[in-house]
This record gives sequence, C-alpha cells and structure tokens, in this order.
Amino acid sequence: MSDTDCIFCKIAAGEMGELIYENERAAAFHDVSPQAAVHVLVVPKSHHDNICDGVDGDTLAAMVDAVQAVVEQTQIAQSGYRVITNTGADAGQAVAHLHWHVLGGQNLGPLVVPEH
Ligand code: 5GP
Ligand code: ZN
Repeated sequence: MSDTDCIFCKIAAGEMGELIYENERAAAFHDVSPQAAVHVLVVPKSHHDNICDGVDGDTLAAMVDAVQAVVEQTQIAQSGYRVITNTGADAGQAVAHLHWHVLGGQNLGPLVVPEH
C-alpha cells in the first residue's frame, strides 16, 4: 500500500480525524472502535508497515514520548495500561501502518491467546 492510500498516514498528517497528541515524528488518536475504557493508537508520521519495517531510533523515541503524553493525558499512568502492536496475519493486523495500541482505564485482565 502506498503512503497516499494509507489511512493512518492521513490521520497522522492531520488530514482527517482528531489527534490528541503529536510531536515531530509521531501522533496519537482515539481508536474508532475502542476495546477498553482508554484505547488510543500511537503511530509514526512516516509510513512503516510494521515494527520491523525500517523504523529509525528517533521515530521510536518519538513514539515513546507520545505514549508518555497519552498516559498522562488520560490519567492511566498510576493505574496501569498495556501497549501492544499487532504484526501480520497471525496477530490480526488490520491496518498496515505501524501502530501501538495503548489500552487502559480499567482492569485489562491477563493477556490471553487462543489455545494452540
Ligand atoms: P490492528 O488490528 O491493525 O492492530 O488495529 C487496527 C485498529 O485501528 C483497530 O483497533 C481499529 O478499530 C482501528 N481503526 C481502523 N480504522 C480506523 C480509523 O479510520 N480511525 C481510527 N481512529 N481508528 C481506526
Ligand atoms: Zn501509512
């Protein structure tokens, strides 16, 4: 998928939807279909298909800064939260632009996967 067709490229660029945080290299916005009381997506502004697709250290650091800002803004720093990134078919990745799910605001229970 090219950058021009990528929905998260457009959102990160501020062309659609609403950002709750941004810095030079990363942006954060509410998931359209929240799976927890707090469900925010943190993305790089540059297009990478997933976490192993050539993401440079400065971009990763900017994404961590975004996570820190989001957990402060949503007041989940003390209660706890989970950060996950789905990659590829087995993980059910639906959008091929690197994104970290920040989940919290409630007890998330154990991390569960189906029996193998
Ligand atoms: P994945 O399954 O790829 O890890 O997660 C993709 C996430 O993106 C899903 O939780 C889905 O609800 C969210 N999502 C998909 N399209 C949009 C959109 O256009 N706007 C927002 N805010 N979230 C989206
Ligand atoms: Zn993209």
